[in-house]
Amino acid sequence: MGKSDAVIIGAGPSGLYLARELSKVMNITIFEEDKMLGVPPHCTGLVNINSLETLGISPPIVSTYRYIRITDLGGNSITFDFRRGAIAMLDRPGLEHYLADELGSATLLLGERVIELGNGVIRTKSREETFNLAVIAEGAGLTLTRNVIPWNPNYVYGVQTDTKSFAENKLMPRSDDEIVVIFDRKLLEHYFAWIVPKGSHEFRIGLADEANVWAKFTELLKVINAEHLKPFGGKIVIGGSPDHVAAGNVAVIGDAGGFVKPMTGGGIIMGMLSARLLADSMINALRERLSISDSLVIYDTVFRRYVRERIKALSSASYILHMMMNKSLGEVLQSMSGTRIDVEDYDNHIDAILKAALRRPWSFIRRFSPLLMNYR
Ligand SMILES: Cc1cc2nc3c(=O)[nH]c(=O)nc-3n(C[C@H](O)[C@H](O)[C@H](O)COP(=O)(O)OP(=O)(O)OC[C@H]3O[C@@H](n4cnc5c(N)ncnc54)[C@H](O)[C@@H]3O)c2cc1C
Repeated sequence: MGKSDAVIIGAGPSGLYLARELSKVMNITIFEEDKMLGVPPHCTGLVNINSLETLGISPPIVSTYRYIRITDLGGNSITFDFRRGAIAMLDRPGLEHYLADELGSATLLLGERVIELGNGVIRTKSREETFNLAVIAEGAGLTLTRNVIPWNPNYVYGVQTDTKSFAENKLMPRSDDEIVVIFDRKLLEHYFAWIVPKGSHEFRIGLADEANVWAKFTELLKVINAEHLKPFGGKIVIGGSPDHVAAGNVAVIGDAGGFVKPMTGGGIIMGMLSARLLADSMINALRERLSISDSLVIYDTVFRRYVRERIKALSSASYILHMMMNKSLGEVLQSMSGTRIDVEDYDNHIDAILKAALRRPWSFIRRFSPLLMNYR
């Protein structure tokens, strides 16, 4: 039986970032069920470039973008201009490889699915290891998380593919630095679709919704005349938040702990920030000669005091906005069509949309006040 100070389950961005930080002060083993890092690449990889600086990392970037155009199928649209905070598409497997190259003394075990976690022992089919600290970074599946911290997030299902299109209709990006986001109930009931240019008529095209995503995705590819290559995707956590992110000597980070932006389900940056919060709590506690369980109390308290309420508030705001968009987005896009709005931070979508709303306060309030009254 092996022994580690800390074991981390999952080598996605959250688990790898945590290992990179914690390996400076303790002996770490990371268990990853897949045999290769970052595959299948299930994520679009869009983040705010400034957030990478905050995290002190510079992973490989596929492309950068200045505009997001939100449109319906008829081409009525609003454009957000992110002049000061450019958006980057990360090379997702590249992000994992970049972080893995910075692991220092940590040991990464690929092809090792954790099947049991408890009483200071972790088990895969072929290994057993004892630990003082376990961190679950298993992503949106929550298989192990549910046994430690029971909670039920809201999900949508996302699918996407990298493909070519030569279509020249109103839905296609007008330049290589414009991302198109489609909200239209004729295509999707609750969520949205995206078309992200990669240059030379190549696009990353995807959508997310509560049900029937494969049929809707086929429809989308037809509308923009794109080749139907093998799609990939998965569950996207879009809201809710557990009451705690630590119990005993086990902590949860990333998607598994609900660290996502509820408006879009984006969790790359939030996941790494949760890892940073946990690592800082551990490193400072160890410096003060506190125990591992004390440092987890610090992590949990900071989460409960500063993060949880914000995520909950953003989830509610996001729910209302999506509900509004579902009910009368067509009218809103028509009334605001052609509007262009400057935005500073891609990672703060709700502020961006409220800023748009404030441009036309009366039409916005008239349309949405009945919905707001009915919202519980
Ligand atoms: C279609 C789609 C598009 C997305 N687009 C974006 C986007 O543009 N921007 C953004 O910020 N986010 C996006 N996301 C969300 C983003 O992918 C996640 O928020 C992010 O990957 C969370 O990182 P994580 O490390 O917490 O979990 P993950 O990246 O899911 O990593 C978890 C890892 O744990 C491993 N694992 C799970 N269970 C076990 C086990 N029992 N034993 C061992 N290993 C295990 C998994 O194999 C995986 O490698 C998208 C998601 C989808 C599905």
